[in-house]
Amino acid sequence: MPIYEFECEECGARFEELVAAGAEGVACAECGSTRTRRLMSSVSPPGRQPRGAAVRSNESQRREREAARKDRIAESRQKRARGENPHPPKKKKGTK
Ligand SMILES: [Zn+2]
Repeated sequence: MPIYEFECEECGARFEELVAAGAEGVACAECGSTRTRRLMSSVSPPGRQPRGAAVRSNESQRREREAARKDRIAESRQKRARGENPHPPKKKKGTK
């Protein structure tokens, strides 16, 4: 789902919402009014592009996934480390 930028006609606040295309009447994040206008992302002011927010959230998602994968790798490595040494060191035989 794309992130759209909305402008509230009541208080003038701008906010970004994750909505289905064509959604109308999104409640204002500031005052709760549904008198909001969807702004085209192509005319969003420079330096504050909704696309940047999307990229950031994608990146944090990816980081999360990577961290989870590292966890899994570390876990399997630990298991393997344990598996590589399944037998406790034997007491030396023949030391009579
Ligand atoms: Zn508002």
